[in-house]
Amino acid sequence: MTTKTCNTCTTEKDTTEFNKRAASKDGLNARCKSCIADYRASRKEAIAETNAKWSKKNPTYKKKWREAHAGYMAEHRSRTRAGLASPKWLDEVAISEMQSVYAKAHLWTQETGESYEVDHIVPLNGDTACGLHTPDNLMILPRAINRRKGATLLQEDA
Ligand SMILES: [Zn+2]
Repeated sequence: MTTKTCNTCTTEKDTTEFNKRAASKDGLNARCKSCIADYRASRKEAIAETNAKWSKKNPTYKKKWREAHAGYMAEHRSRTRAGLASPKWLDEVAISEMQSVYAKAHLWTQETGESYEVDHIVPLNGDTACGLHTPDNLMILPRAINRRKGATLLQEDA
């Protein structure tokens, strides 16, 4: 068996414990799968905390968000009625989760001075896949990256 030492937990592990990464010399991520999982979990907490603070300071954001996204909502309501999309997306939790994604992008832009945008991981109207306007399908990208992302990201995720 082939092993590799994780650069984060410094543990020597079987190479199957590492995700593939084409850009690396050995074709593997420097961090093992469990370190990546830990990192994601800690980030999630930090983000939730930031969101909570932000929402407190911006109590009208949710209302404004609903207004700004009235088009999406109407679209999804009609899709749902037509049996095309999950009806779950419209519940309160989904809305507040999506609101925090947008809030976060806004906050990052303010804090870093770099423009962040919210984008759909799977495009709403892609050629091969049709994504949903749901929290799971949203991500934040610096504007510069967002503009050149194109289809590459989708292929990597697939
Ligand atoms: Zn590790």
